Amino acid sequence: MSAVTARIDTDALRHNLGQIRKRAPASKIMAVIKANAYGHGIVPIAQALTEANSLAVARIEEAVQLRDAGISSPIVLLEGVQSPDELTLVARHRLEMVVHCQEQITMLEQQGGAIADLWLKLDAGMNRLGFVPGEFLEAHRRLVKLSPAGRSPGLMSHFSSADHAQSETSGIQLKIFLETTAGLPGERSLANSAGILDIPASHLDWVRPGLSLYGVSPLAGKSAQDLNLRPAMRFSTWLVATRNLATGDTAGYGCRWRADRPTRLGIAACGYGDGYPWALPDGAPLRVEGAPACLAGAVSMDMIAIDLGADSEAQVGDEVLLWGEAGLPVEDIAAAAGTISYELLCRVSQRVEREIV
Ligand SMILES: *Cc1c(COP(=O)(O)O)cnc(C)c1O
Repeated sequence: MSAVTARIDTDALRHNLGQIRKRAPASKIMAVIKANAYGHGIVPIAQALTEANSLAVARIEEAVQLRDAGISSPIVLLEGVQSPDELTLVARHRLEMVVHCQEQITMLEQQGGAIADLWLKLDAGMNRLGFVPGEFLEAHRRLVKLSPAGRSPGLMSHFSSADHAQSETSGIQLKIFLETTAGLPGERSLANSAGILDIPASHLDWVRPGLSLYGVSPLAGKSAQDLNLRPAMRFSTWLVATRNLATGDTAGYGCRWRADRPTRLGIAACGYGDGYPWALPDGAPLRVEGAPACLAGAVSMDMIAIDLGADSEAQVGDEVLLWGEAGLPVEDIAAAAGTISYELLCRVSQRVEREIV
């Protein structure tokens, strides 16, 4: 019997890709699979996303891993490269790269240029990566000389607040991006998942979905179901022990939880060592063989305790759903733990078995 499993539903992934295409029918799709495809497993996810127009990762190691696995799709390095050695890998593995700072342009000029398709990044207000509007045209002029013949550098930026409904900031950043790139040749890309779902004017030539591909809502107040997205990860484990408790009995480290009535407690094989968040409070929702149940006490490294209720007939070996169905989405677990779905997905640890279906 295996313990903790992240079952990855590639049909759901393709369904979500189809939904994104419907939302942005005139745009090409750069599927974002950084951070081990948001914890889903980078190689199988890349293999399932052959319908995407390109793939995007944050680090060159991720791109090399994809090429070594035989993935031949275009791959974009969202942070570009940091050294001449990495530039050699870009050429060898036919990668595209984002150029976001002077140091990168200088590096490209020093090695002679024209080794890869380039994307020039504008900082439209997030103040993370990219050239500010006043430096953008000069950077563009230099990049044009470094691009393969006949290939204009792509033009991209990133929203800081697209996930907040009615954010004025996104409108301002879209305007800055369009004004700064006006009249330049080259394809434009701005929208992440929230932009795709909430700001049609930001779709442009390429959209860059991450979270929505995995069937998770990026928008506060809208569920994945509302958006017609299906969760691609089902995170589950098993009961490894049960016991009956009397009123006043406690469970787990620090005796945080105390039974307020006689009840049955289940111990499940899953803890923060698997990526189930320690920050969850008592009462956080779970499902045992489909029946609602509650977390009881602090999450341990390898185990959790579950209040099953006095009448429960749950047994060792029963399935415990941690998140990943419409009634128990990762969005709710993240909210209960005081974090975001992105972090919980990325934190699903190495030892969790990814079962690809
Ligand atoms: C991570 C990332 C995305 C995808 O964002 P989601 O909110 O997950 O859709 C898009 N563009 C860039 C530059 C990113 O770093």
